[in-house]
Amino acid sequence: MVKSADELAGTVIDAEEAGVPWFILGGGSNILVGDLGFRGLVIKNEADKIATGRTEWYIPRNDGLVTVTAESGALLSQLASFAIDHGLAGLEPFMSVPGTVGGAIFNNSHFRPSQNEFIGNLVEEAEILFPRATLDDVSSMRSARNPRSLRRRLPVGEKTKVLSGSSSMISETPSSVRPVPFRVSRDWFRFSYDYSRLQEEKAVVLRVKFKLEKGDPEELRSKSLELLKQRNSYQPIGSLSCGCMWRNPKEAPAGKLIDETGLKGIRVGGMSVSQTHANFMVNDGTGKVGDVLELMARVKKRVKKYCGVELEPEIFMVGEFSHENMKT
Ligand SMILES: Cc1cc2nc3c(=O)[nH]c(=O)nc-3n(C[C@H](O)[C@H](O)[C@H](O)COP(=O)(O)OP(=O)(O)OC[C@H]3O[C@@H](n4cnc5c(N)ncnc54)[C@H](O)[C@@H]3O)c2cc1C
Repeated sequence: MVKSADELAGTVIDAEEAGVPWFILGGGSNILVGDLGFRGLVIKNEADKIATGRTEWYIPRNDGLVTVTAESGALLSQLASFAIDHGLAGLEPFMSVPGTVGGAIFNNSHFRPSQNEFIGNLVEEAEILFPRATLDDVSSMRSARNPRSLRRRLPVGEKTKVLSGSSSMISETPSSVRPVPFRVSRDWFRFSYDYSRLQEEKAVVLRVKFKLEKGDPEELRSKSLELLKQRNSYQPIGSLSCGCMWRNPKEAPAGKLIDETGLKGIRVGGMSVSQTHANFMVNDGTGKVGDVLELMARVKKRVKKYCGVELEPEIFMVGEFSHENMKT
């Protein structure tokens, strides 16, 4: 478990240097872990500092916007609540989305995609660690970064000096090459529906700077409560789930397709397709990984057969699976 962005970076670098596979666990709300577990280091990210007051983390700007920086382990709900309390608009739809800032950036979390409510739209820049970047890789990333960061990627010795404080810290001791964080702009992520470039790069989000508009705290609070009510009306609240299991294909929302094929309520072991929202699978508390995979396989097959649509999982598979149906 790590409690600060710097500790997160240091732990990843140590694991990388030791040749130990590692995985960043945010809130765990969008992953399915294999029944054989993950062979390596699971780093639970509890780095959750958000600006408190007018510090370097909370910067009013000339264009009327305000930037707020959050460490990647902060819960999205904490961040949204912080913004509302400070009269900053933009994050209210995300008050009810589970998980951390890092997880949200990884998948470009959304509330109502049809209304363009994606977390990526609010990102100004982020501090990222590329634990495997070679100097060549780094040179090719020049355009996406604060050029000053390039100069900071010098050979370094002590982890604590490299990573304490912000990415501007660096040790002068050139005893070995250890990666340091870089600032990347929003464009670097190539955000799109359920996608950010992080899904293809071995990179770790340390901190994210969001740009928000000024708003009235009371209005923002009531808007966020209204959105929460809306959400509670169509999601299986109180049940164990991973949220939506499938990405929405271009043809129609996945939940609609699943519903149309008559799969609501279908059960495998302790898992079933939710009666409330067909894109959710709910666990009655006894569901096992194998049940999830088998239910996914059945849903996928039926939707393909009756709708001609290939569903793609929205959740991410982590670790090793013994179950034969794992190829969903
Ligand atoms: C009931 C429910 C409702 C949901 N509703 C929504 C919704 O409305 N909209 C929506 O978009 N999603 C929704 N989700 C899905 C989920 O909340 C989001 O995808 C969330 O952003 C995942 O964040 P997490 O911290 O839990 O990520 P995790 O599940 O812990 O991790 C997901 C992936 O992100 C990676 N990751 C996490 N942190 C970092 C980091 N710092 N750097 C690099 N990679 C990282 C992990 O390694 C993993 O690969 C819902 C889930 C549930 C259970």
